[in-house]
Amino acid sequence: MRKLDKHYIGGQWVPSRGKREHPMVNPSTEEVIGAVTLGDAADVEAAVAAASSAFPKWSGSPVEERIRLIERTREIYKRRLNEMGAAISAEMGAPIDLAGERQAPAAANHMTNFLRVMETFSFSEPFADYAPDDRILMQPIGVVGMITPWNWPMSQVGLKVVPALLAGCTMVLKPSEFAPLSSNLLAEILDEAGVPAGVFNLVHGDGAGVGASLSAHPGVAMMSFTGSTVAGRAVMKTAADTFKRVALELGGKGANLIFADADDKAVERGVRQCFSNSGQSCNAPTRMLVERSIYAQSVERAREVAESVVVGKSDASGPHIGPVVSGRQYERIQALIETALAEGARLVAGGPGRPSGFNSGYFVQPTVFADVTPDMTIAREEVFGPVLSIIPFEDERHALEIANDTPYGLTNYVQTQDLERRRRLARHLHSGMVEMNGQPRGAGAPFGGVGFSGLGREGGKWGLEEYLVVKSVSGWN
Ligand code: NAD
Repeated sequence: MRKLDKHYIGGQWVPSRGKREHPMVNPSTEEVIGAVTLGDAADVEAAVAAASSAFPKWSGSPVEERIRLIERTREIYKRRLNEMGAAISAEMGAPIDLAGERQAPAAANHMTNFLRVMETFSFSEPFADYAPDDRILMQPIGVVGMITPWNWPMSQVGLKVVPALLAGCTMVLKPSEFAPLSSNLLAEILDEAGVPAGVFNLVHGDGAGVGASLSAHPGVAMMSFTGSTVAGRAVMKTAADTFKRVALELGGKGANLIFADADDKAVERGVRQCFSNSGQSCNAPTRMLVERSIYAQSVERAREVAESVVVGKSDASGPHIGPVVSGRQYERIQALIETALAEGARLVAGGPGRPSGFNSGYFVQPTVFADVTPDMTIAREEVFGPVLSIIPFEDERHALEIANDTPYGLTNYVQTQDLERRRRLARHLHSGMVEMNGQPRGAGAPFGGVGFSGLGREGGKWGLEEYLVVKSVSGWN
């Protein structure tokens, strides 16, 4: 049994003042494998105090010192990569290969990408030729509160902690209570890398406790939140009282527009991308919009692909998908599948209940619905499980109308050989990101949404600037 009953505050592992426990459950077996002790307002108070007293020195530290810290952290992180993969797999159920090959390396990749940004980023620049005595300074905003989810735990933590450290901010991280192991290990890594006391603090806890205290704390200058739209709204409301800057990375309901001239792998790619990480990705292409002339054959292809997707336990090696994270998520997904059936969606693959061969664990059948209409619940709500909705469209205008008929706007996808159409759609799709013809966005490209998908961008220079305040100065020379 793994017990996490300490927080990392002021460079020390200190016992939690809060005493409530949250069980760690193996999603493949439903066995309790440990517990994390949830902090309370007193733990947040101590962590914000530590971060506040470390701020003056860290914010004034030479940029080279911050770069060296990230370089050392990356080295140690890479050395402990297997441990990180195992921690992620145990806490949120990703199969061990996915956890080790994609989940864990994500944070190291973010370190590399942000180090690249630092090569050309300037924290102090002249304003303009016509006002030669003006200067623009980019200064760290202060103590940052960070709240992260469990689905890509080290990617999400890395996208916050790394740029905040490079910007000169100090911070208090509250990882998901469902994914405490990976962040605990990251705190050990940062400690070994020599992060100065108080610069990085970790407080375990849940949303209602530590999450709400952090969002309300007057000593916190900014909240950076990744998670559900409902919790993001709560953080923003709480943070408003003290006028904190708020960055939000929230849910999504991505559309994947497949035109008749799409490449012949487009449907397969879309299905696999939707089911990847057991459907637990905010940018999953969960609404497959297919042009009428290729609709019937595309539905059939989606069925074949879904039926070929293997579901298996987290500790087994291989390309299978694992369980979903928790009993609560399992029940929620089942209810959404039942609602889709009741509302008249046509079940093409999968369906309610566990896949055959499983009578325990939070395993969901890879499920495909066809003839989904844009008003159905399954087309509107984020499912966060391996469930795909297929919707036919008549022409480009119709496809765009369906794609944009959602309050979310994270990533949309387009599959067509027509360059002009791709560019038109890139401009008109209501989302922070558009990915076309299966080409992933470049390393460090900005990540984020519009509407109910959030505010702000992570990654690249945009993700660094989130943690900086623009100061406009005259009389510099
Ligand atoms: P969640 O909102 O339940 O929890 C996320 C974090 O917020 C956790 O640390 C939780 O403890 C905390 N939290 C919950 N309620 C809170 C409150 N009232 N105040 C402060 N903190 C609170 O989400 P989850 O189930 O952990 O993660 C899945 C969600 O995250 C999905 O909706 C997914 O789309 C979203 N997500 C978004 C992105 C993105 O970049 N846009 C990335 C990954 C996940």
